[in-house]
Amino acid sequence: MVILVANCISYDGHMSVLPIYTYGAPVLRKKARPVKQVTDEIVKLVVDMFETMHKANGIGLAANQVGSPVRVIVIDVSEMEEMKDVKPLTLINPQIVHQTGMWVMEEGCLSIPEVRDDVERAESITLRYKDSNFHDLELEVGGMLARVILHEIDHLNGVLFIDHLSPEKKKIHADRLKQIQRGEMEVSYPVTTAVDVTV
Ligand SMILES: [Zn+2]
Repeated sequence: MVILVANCISYDGHMSVLPIYTYGAPVLRKKARPVKQVTDEIVKLVVDMFETMHKANGIGLAANQVGSPVRVIVIDVSEMEEMKDVKPLTLINPQIVHQTGMWVMEEGCLSIPEVRDDVERAESITLRYKDSNFHDLELEVGGMLARVILHEIDHLNGVLFIDHLSPEKKKIHADRLKQIQRGEMEVSYPVTTAVDVTV
């Protein structure tokens, strides 16, 4: 069976749900390296990332979050009523070339379960990236989709949404963050915790 994923990747192999690395895992702090060509390995990564993101009910996932520090992001916001017509996106080597405006909205992250807080981000962005065929594309988006893209690009740079919070606000989440670091969490999707990777 050939499965068509975002941007027309055709793939006839097995799809896997990968464990998501959680807060404290060193790979989340690594700056991901650019992709030089779309190898079979990258295609498999993209397909597995979509499978993993859907399983976790996420709307965006960066490769760091599944333990692969390469500049690959998958996004699918079509479950959200107001964005049901937005096609899933695979962004390889994404770069923000322009951004304007600022707005605040509450964010969460599959790597930081049960922590949510307001983050200020650009309202609209212009983005250059390569799709899964390694074609250069430019995209202008705003609102929620821009926010998701900026959150995921942060991941590729080793930045988490909690890094945008003031020290006072970060303090509110300190206990929970420590729990996550110790692997104390209940989530409905497979995870690799900091304890798993540092032992
Ligand atoms: Zn995240």
